[in-house]
Amino acid sequence: MPLKPEIPKPESEKRRVGYAIVGIGKLSAEELIPAARTSEHAYVAALVTSEEDKGEAFARAFDLTENDVYSYDEFEKLGERDDVEAVFIVLPNSMHREYTERAAKIGKHVLCEKPLSVNAEDAQAMVDACKDAGVLLMTAYRCQYTPEHWAARDAVQSGKLGTIRVIDSIHAHVEDDPEAWRLRRDLAGGGPLPDIGLYSLNIIRFVMGEEPQWVFADLHQPQGDERFEEVEERVSWMMGFSGGVVANCLTSYAAQDTSTLRVLGEKGSVLMDPAFDYQGLKLTIEDDKGKFQPSFPAYDQFGNEFDHFAQCIREGKTPWTPGEEGVADHIVMDAIYESARTGKRVELKPVKEKDASRGEKKPEMPGEGV
Ligand code: NAD
Repeated sequence: MPLKPEIPKPESEKRRVGYAIVGIGKLSAEELIPAARTSEHAYVAALVTSEEDKGEAFARAFDLTENDVYSYDEFEKLGERDDVEAVFIVLPNSMHREYTERAAKIGKHVLCEKPLSVNAEDAQAMVDACKDAGVLLMTAYRCQYTPEHWAARDAVQSGKLGTIRVIDSIHAHVEDDPEAWRLRRDLAGGGPLPDIGLYSLNIIRFVMGEEPQWVFADLHQPQGDERFEEVEERVSWMMGFSGGVVANCLTSYAAQDTSTLRVLGEKGSVLMDPAFDYQGLKLTIEDDKGKFQPSFPAYDQFGNEFDHFAQCIREGKTPWTPGEEGVADHIVMDAIYESARTGKRVELKPVKEKDASRGEKKPEMPGEGV
């Protein structure tokens, strides 16, 4: 009897990219795994976790089976899964390098949470490992995948704000769990700077499309507070850009929830408040036509990341925020820590090219602002 021909799946099903989520902590559980369900080009095909029960509970909730759940020791078994084309690393920062290198070795593309690593040297090693293995590496900078941040960048770079003069940004919240891995230097690489201050740094570099030329920083690590035995409570830093533009930034693990970005030109300004939240970003642009708040169709920042990287895999293109973009931030953060330690301004290696560390594929944005 002739075999029944297989019914072809719809094109979108067939071509969606399967991800293995590595680490099921707060971000994976509350944001990433649910966001993948809304993704057009990607889906979750496997989970890697140390907690078997949690993995199986998530597998059940997301139409996976217990065979799709792997322990960290079984990570290399993903190499046998053709349907897993990429891994999304969502582990404490110091583990990003190890899992990126292991993924590259088994030929999987890597989407890695921010910060890419714990310093520029380790981050560069991750870029090199992926390049040598011929797999793509993307740093999960969700704010470069929102229409609000692109509109802010367009306003700054279009010239309609006049010459840009001053930028300021604050990203703070209270970290009240003294046991958190984020407060352990060996796991986190630092305190609020690589965790949340990084958003200010990354988005200022993005809206300017330029690299800072120098940094000058001050750091506070209070005595007698068990939370800050290993990492700083607060970093304030200045970054100088071409033409005398200066950015003043502050990040803290002991100040009320705040995420703001303001860019002042001679003829106008951009204000984002909140600037780095998962939802509800508020952008105000003021130019010679007046003040307005553009609004955009609904989107999910994490879904946008899944989709962008999946499209890059299909098209063989470098993602907009590749590993190099993560390295560029680590170079500046290393200089910020050096300045805070020495009390001196640190000059950075000049980078002339615009968007030097960004890839060829621009993110698709959901509609123009109205
Ligand atoms: P989390 O503590 O909630 O989860 C960490 C995961 O790593 C857990 O599954 C835990 O079991 C696992 N793990 C393995 N070894 C560990 C160890 N030695 N110590 C602690 N956990 C260990 O953390 P999270 O908030 O999900 O953060 C994970 C990564 O995601 C970090 O790199 C963080 O910077 C990043 N992150 C990004 C965003 C964003 O908006 N893009 C938001 C939150 C976190």
